[in-house]
Amino acid sequence: MKQTISIAAAVIAASITLTTSHQTYAQQQTELPKSTSKPAAAANSEMDADKILGLRQQLYDRLSIVTDIPWYRIAAIDQYERTLSKARPKARPQLGELSGIFIEEELWAGPLNPDSSDTAPASIQWFNGVGRDGNGDGVAERTNDFDLLYSVVGRMLQNGGSTEDDFSIGLWEYYHNSRSVQRIQQFARIYENFGSLDLFEHAFPVPVGSNYSYRSTWGNARGWGGRRSHEGTDIFANHGVPVRSTSYGVIEVKGWNPYGGWRIGIRDLNNYYHYYAHLSGFDKTMEVGTLVKPGQVIGWVGSSGYGKPGTQGKFPPHLHYGVYRDRGLIEWSFDPYPLLKKWENDERRRLRAKR
Ligand SMILES: [Zn+2]
Repeated sequence: MKQTISIAAAVIAASITLTTSHQTYAQQQTELPKSTSKPAAAANSEMDADKILGLRQQLYDRLSIVTDIPWYRIAAIDQYERTLSKARPKARPQLGELSGIFIEEELWAGPLNPDSSDTAPASIQWFNGVGRDGNGDGVAERTNDFDLLYSVVGRMLQNGGSTEDDFSIGLWEYYHNSRSVQRIQQFARIYENFGSLDLFEHAFPVPVGSNYSYRSTWGNARGWGGRRSHEGTDIFANHGVPVRSTSYGVIEVKGWNPYGGWRIGIRDLNNYYHYYAHLSGFDKTMEVGTLVKPGQVIGWVGSSGYGKPGTQGKFPPHLHYGVYRDRGLIEWSFDPYPLLKKWENDERRRLRAKR
């Protein structure tokens, strides 16, 4: 692995010619929309978003050739870092144009490096900084996408090979946080399974053609299945109405919970945890680790909960749906009602378009 990394500068030059467009990386960067210093603005229109995902895929593929790390693991690290930056944008300003990686200046240059904005690979290495020159231009630039990704992947994998176990150990040594390791492993499985970066579609949790009702009950103490206050939205529907995943994701939790009854927790690529409670049962293919897509049936509406495993009927049947956001060390819930409204409308529009 060390050797692979050290010859990377030479290999990257070769790998550039493998791209279908036969452009250099620098040329491709100049093609980006003018607003790339504000990626959120650039992502506003769907065409730009598609273009960004395409360029990211090229970036990961190229780094994969250089490092022998599969693209979906690189994508998982990058996406995890992006979710941390979205949760704490002030502490983690955007450094690159396509990558979500954030590295403190002091870590990039090395903690004892008197020049905290050092870009010389040799002196950064001397001071054990993270920064490296990935694209072979002789400079380790903290604002260059390839250098950023290459540096983090290189630092994670400096002591190991490219197997899944090596990958987990490398993640642990970089983050020293089991939550980070778990998230990146989950993201990598989602990307590997679906074979795409374009996995941010959503569905309403019950079929929009079925009979159901819900309203905004955020923080309402009278909700069913909440914790301290009511953290979620109750969707009332008949017993047995299908409950569907709202996103692409992986099942993180499945089983009985005294308040939630039979419940499922699904992690998505935004690092959101989707919580579906009071189910009457689970689809038999659902296990912890199962990968799901939006609209896929995971179980059925019920009235389980408020007691020992199997307790049912203590309240009207409904789906309790909650969303929790991971900030890296803690998770907090936010009101899913606006998302539900949007997904419901989007799905109605799609159904109308089909007719
Ligand atoms: Zn509820």
